[in-house]
Amino acid sequence: MVVIREDVKFIVDTDKCCGCRHCIRTCQEDVWRWDIELNCAVPKYAEECVQCFQCEVDCLGHCFEIIPQIVFKSDPLENTMGEA
Ligand code: SF4
Ligand code: SF4
Repeated sequence: MVVIREDVKFIVDTDKCCGCRHCIRTCQEDVWRWDIELNCAVPKYAEECVQCFQCEVDCLGHCFEIIPQIVFKSDPLENTMGEA
């Protein structure tokens, strides 16, 4: 399962989830929910993630990866234009 929000991407290997629910308990932003059909925790409210990575550290199954997405709000080369 891949969940992509504007500034973060979650890649969850649902087969590896051992059901420990550490992610649900540890997340201060209440991002995770248990999915009965998938039999796995899922980042249902991923847009609330503040990228503290605590859930990734606590995950007993090592079954997901959180990948920050770099979002350029402006052109990073804009301020270097014209420099010698
Ligand atoms: S990285 Fe932090 S805020 Fe984001 S889901 Fe994990 S514990 Fe919650
Ligand atoms: S911490 Fe990892 S193994 Fe435990 S319920 Fe969450 S996703 Fe599954």
